[in-house]
Amino acid sequence: MTTLYVLTDDLRIDDNPALNLAARDEKLAVIYCIDDAVFKTDRFGCRGMGQHRWRFLRQSLQDLNQDLAERGQVLHLLEGDTLTLSTDLLRTDQFSRVIRTRGHDHRTNLWWNQLVARFVDIEFIEVDGSTLFDQEQIQFETFPDSFSKFRKGIEDRPFRHSVSAPNQLPGSLDLDSRLITAPTSDASPRGGSLAGKDHLTHYFSTEAACVYKETRNALHGEHYSTGFSTYLANGSLSPIQVVQQLFQYEREFGKNESTQWILFELLWREFFRWYGLRYGDLLFEFAGINGQRPLTSFYRDRFIKWTEGRTPWPLVNAAMNELRETGLISNRARQIVASCLVNELEVDWRCGASYFAEQLIDYDACSNWGNWQYIAGVGADPRGGRHFNIDKQTELFDPDASYRNRWGGAAVNEPLDSVDYYDWPVERIGT
Ligand SMILES: Cc1cc2nc3c(=O)[nH]c(=O)nc-3n(C[C@H](O)[C@H](O)[C@H](O)COP(=O)(O)OP(=O)(O)OC[C@H]3O[C@@H](n4cnc5c(N)ncnc54)[C@H](O)[C@@H]3O)c2cc1C
Repeated sequence: MTTLYVLTDDLRIDDNPALNLAARDEKLAVIYCIDDAVFKTDRFGCRGMGQHRWRFLRQSLQDLNQDLAERGQVLHLLEGDTLTLSTDLLRTDQFSRVIRTRGHDHRTNLWWNQLVARFVDIEFIEVDGSTLFDQEQIQFETFPDSFSKFRKGIEDRPFRHSVSAPNQLPGSLDLDSRLITAPTSDASPRGGSLAGKDHLTHYFSTEAACVYKETRNALHGEHYSTGFSTYLANGSLSPIQVVQQLFQYEREFGKNESTQWILFELLWREFFRWYGLRYGDLLFEFAGINGQRPLTSFYRDRFIKWTEGRTPWPLVNAAMNELRETGLISNRARQIVASCLVNELEVDWRCGASYFAEQLIDYDACSNWGNWQYIAGVGADPRGGRHFNIDKQTELFDPDASYRNRWGGAAVNEPLDSVDYYDWPVERIGT
C-alpha cells in the first residue's frame, strides 16, 4: 500500500500518531501544502499569514525535513490551492490511502471533506495528534456551553497515548516539489521541533513554573508565561509532550497551584479545539455560535488606527506596536486590545481576529477565533462578553510605564473617524 501523508499542524516526528500509522505502509509520500490563499488579503484587508509566522513556519519545515531525511524520507513542499494540489496527486492512482492529523477548524476541514467525497475508493484516515484527548472522549451531542463545564467533564479522563518517533520510514515517492529554504535570522522564537524541545527543557529547568499563576498576567518580561504556544500552534510540540514535562517537573519539585494552572490553560486550548470542530463555520460568523449579532460595525479608519497603534489609549498602542513588530503579545495584552476594538471602538470583532491571524506567530484558528468570540460576547462566555477598563488595566499591569515606553505607546488624540455618520469629512465640522 502507498500512503499520502498530509502534514498540517503536526510538524514533528515525536509523539505524532498519524506519522506512526503512515510509517507502517510500504511506500509513503509526505507533503505540506502552502496554500497561496494565505497570502491574499481578505475582506477586512488582512492576509492569512504575515512575515513573522512565515519565517517561523519555514524554519519549522526545514527542521522537520532534516528529521525525515535521517529516516529516509523527504518533505515535499507544494504551493498552490490545497484542494487542487491534493486532487492532482490522488488522480495519479498511486495512493491507496491518505492520512493526516485530525483537523479542528472548518476551513482546514473543507478541502479534506471534499477529497473524501471525491475519492470514494481511497481510504482517508484522521488521527488525533494535536490534542490531549481523542475525539471519542468528547461528547459532541451535549457539548458543554462553557469552559468550566467542559473542564469538569473531562479532567478525570486519561490523555491520549503518546508515541515515540519511528526509527525508520518507508521509501519515498518521487514528487515534483519545492525545496524548503528558511531565512537565516536571529529573530526569536526560532521555529522547529528542536527549538521547541530546547525551549520546553529550558523552561522547566527554571523556577518559572512554580510561580506561573502569579506571573502569567504580566505584559512582558522573561518567562512570565510558558511561551509554548508558537510550537503548539504548528505542532512542533504536542500538548502531550508539554504535560509529560510538566508532570516530571511536579514529581521533582512538587505540585502547586501554579503548575496546575499550566494544565488549566492547556485545557483552554483543548476546549477551543473541540469547540472549533463542534461549531464548524460558526467559529467565523459575526453572530457567533448563538446567532446574536453584536452592535458593532466595520469602521475602516478606527480599525486601521487600532492596527497601527494610533488610538487614544497608550497601553493599546504599545501592545499593537509590539504585535506588529514581533508577531507576539501576552494573553493579557490580547484581551485588552480585543476588548478595546469591540467595546471602545465598536468595530466588528472579525476584523480583529483576522488581523491577529495575519500577525500572530502562534496563530491557531480555534484558539484565536474562539477567544475573539468570547470577548465579543458571541461565544462560550456565560457572562456574555468581556469589557476591560483600559485605565485600570494600565494601572495594574504597567504602573511604571515600562511596557508603554518599550513599545512606544503614546496617546494619539486625533478624530477616530475621518468622516462622520453622514460621510462628511470630520475636519469640516465646526469650520
Ligand atoms: C483575542 C485572543 C486571541 C488569541 N489567539 C490565540 C492564537 O491564535 N493562538 C494561541 O495559541 N492562543 C491564542 N490566544 C490565547 C493566549 O493568549 C495564548 O495562547 C498565550 O498568550 C500564549 O502564550 P504562552 O504560550 O506563554 O501561554 P501560557 O500562559 O503559558 O499558557 C500555556 C498554554 O496554554 C494555552 N492557552 C493559554 N491561554 C489560552 C487561551 N485563552 N485560549 C487557548 N489556549 C490558551 C496555550 O496553548 C499556551 O501555550 C488568544 C487569546 C486572546 C484573548
